[in-house]
Amino acid sequence: MQLIPLVLALLAGSAAVWWALRSRAHLSARVAEEAEARRRLEELQASLLERTVELEDANEHLEREIEERRKMELALRESEERYALAARGANDGLWDWNLVAGEVYLSERWREMVGMVDGSLSLSPEEWFSRVHLSDLPQLKVDIAAQAAGSRSHFHSEHRLRHSEGFFIWVLCRGIVVRDTEGRALRIAGSMTDITARKDLEERLRREAQFDSLTTLPNRSYATDLLRRAIARAKRNREQQFGVLFLDCDRFKVVNDSLGHHAGDSLLRLVAGRLNGCVRPGDVVARLGGDEFVVILEGVKDEAEAITVAERIQHSLAQPFYLDGRELFMSVSVGIAMSQPGVERPEDYLRDADLAMYRAKLRGRARHEVFRADMRAGAVLQMSLENDLRHSMDRGELRVMYQPIWSLASGRIVGFEALVRWDHPTHGAMQPADFIPIAEETGLILPLGEWVLRQAAQRLAHWNTKVVADDPIWVSVNVAARQLTHPGLVEIVKNAIAETGIEASRLKLEITESMIMADAVAAVGALEQLKTLGIHLLMDDFGTGHASLSYLHRLPISTIKIDRYFVGRIDSNSECLEIVRTILSLSRSLSMDVVAEGVENGAQREVLQSLGCEYVQGYLLSPPLDADAAERLLLTNRAVESAASR
Ligand code: C2E
Ligand code: MG
Ligand code: MG
Repeated sequence: MQLIPLVLALLAGSAAVWWALRSRAHLSARVAEEAEARRRLEELQASLLERTVELEDANEHLEREIEERRKMELALRESEERYALAARGANDGLWDWNLVAGEVYLSERWREMVGMVDGSLSLSPEEWFSRVHLSDLPQLKVDIAAQAAGSRSHFHSEHRLRHSEGFFIWVLCRGIVVRDTEGRALRIAGSMTDITARKDLEERLRREAQFDSLTTLPNRSYATDLLRRAIARAKRNREQQFGVLFLDCDRFKVVNDSLGHHAGDSLLRLVAGRLNGCVRPGDVVARLGGDEFVVILEGVKDEAEAITVAERIQHSLAQPFYLDGRELFMSVSVGIAMSQPGVERPEDYLRDADLAMYRAKLRGRARHEVFRADMRAGAVLQMSLENDLRHSMDRGELRVMYQPIWSLASGRIVGFEALVRWDHPTHGAMQPADFIPIAEETGLILPLGEWVLRQAAQRLAHWNTKVVADDPIWVSVNVAARQLTHPGLVEIVKNAIAETGIEASRLKLEITESMIMADAVAAVGALEQLKTLGIHLLMDDFGTGHASLSYLHRLPISTIKIDRYFVGRIDSNSECLEIVRTILSLSRSLSMDVVAEGVENGAQREVLQSLGCEYVQGYLLSPPLDADAAERLLLTNRAVESAASR
């Protein structure tokens, strides 16, 4: 029995131990569980925190992005607005060509520019191209193709578009290409600016740079370009030869000085018009400046052909010009330079033709000369002569020679013509033909002419007081065109008379028809004033100019000098004989005296005598003599004639 309680106690003890053990095990499991749960919770909290930070970051990023996008949108809108405003302000049209759909969207302004009124907002590329000027279309297509292919970053084209009213406007088209991810062009879009005004201005500037504003002919620089092209063509093709004519109006300055620049300009325009009428369509007429023109003759065979054109021009210009109710005469001197294999610079041709022209001037103007290589040396000579002539008066190199004029009826010397000579230090005695034209061109004729006039007046005073006081003679002095229209001439003549005490009627001035014709108004004014001084005027070289005979009686001319061209042929050419006869009968009816110039032989003298010509001048009696020899001849003549009349 005691065992049972023991067992029971044992059992109870074991149970307690077991229970205790069991409870302990249970407890440690709980503790572990709780620790695990806490760890998890901590992990969760950490990850939550991490996530929260992440989310906050993301949120912040998002907000930033939203802000940025908002800003971008704003900027875009502003930019779009700005662009639209700029386009409107710049008056530009906008276009957007959808390459996939084959349609071009056009802004209101674009359509307005070309006068599209149908209201459609788009058109096909073909319709667009159909408005492009045919000359500009190929380049435009090339530009667009290059842009689409990606070879050019920006599209830029200036071309003409036809307005619905039919005229063309100039536009500047700019654009860029929009591509897909593979780089294929999807759209080209851009703006279009109306640049018509700029193009017009450019064209005007180009014209001004290339054309002469007075005559609208090509100017020197353009002519040089055209000549350069002609040279290149001739070089490529030997058949393509050309000729250059250099033209200079004779005595043009007289027109300008007397009628004014306005009249001069008008005359140049008329000359330009006539020149254009003388050439074929491919030829070029240009104005180099002043009264100088150049004509480029393309495809001429030879020199003879160029000469034919030069003659045609000269003939055309010889016809009178009518300006403000006046009849004006104009001649040109022409130099011709033909294309030559080795000569390749335009300036060389212009210089050569200019030299030939100068030669034509020196040989009496109103003629043409073909360039020859030796003229280059001649030009140098020319320039040095010009310089020498300036000093000739101071250096005492000028001399006045006197050629007697005598009466056929009495055989007595009635006067002398004063003719200037230049004893050049290296070239020797020079004839007026070699230096008077230079003096005229350079204006040196004014001091030279005055010097001759003073010399002649002094000589005349001496002869008429000391040599032939009982039967005084006269002396005639040649006056150049430039002197006649110079305002100082009357004063110079007055002074010469006053200084020498000669009788005004004993001093005669020789003028030529062409001088009066070139500038009748100024010339007639000067002649009238000279006449009131008592000076007699002689019409020199009569028959060679263009003066209408009817003009003569309106001028205060007392004597006509028949040109030696007719006198020299009077005994051999019936036409010349008739001309001399007509001049003589005309002068009789106008109560003018006549001097026949260049009488070289007895036959001529006899014909003149039979025609009733009173005075003659020529080698038959004497060539021009120096003052002393002239005086001796005068004395002998008087002595012989006095003896004969006794
Ligand atoms: P011009 O006034 O007609 O002078 C007449 C020219 O004919 C002179 O030539 C004279 O020497 C020449 N002559 C005279 N008789 C005969 C003849 O029988 N046969 C030939 N073959 N010729 C004859 P020159 O002296 O050489 O003068 C030429 C021209 O130069 C003059 O022509 C005149 O227009 C101009 N000249 C001469 N001296 C002056 C001057 O002092 N001032 C101006 N402005 N011109 C002058
Ligand atoms: Mg004369
Ligand atoms: Mg003469």
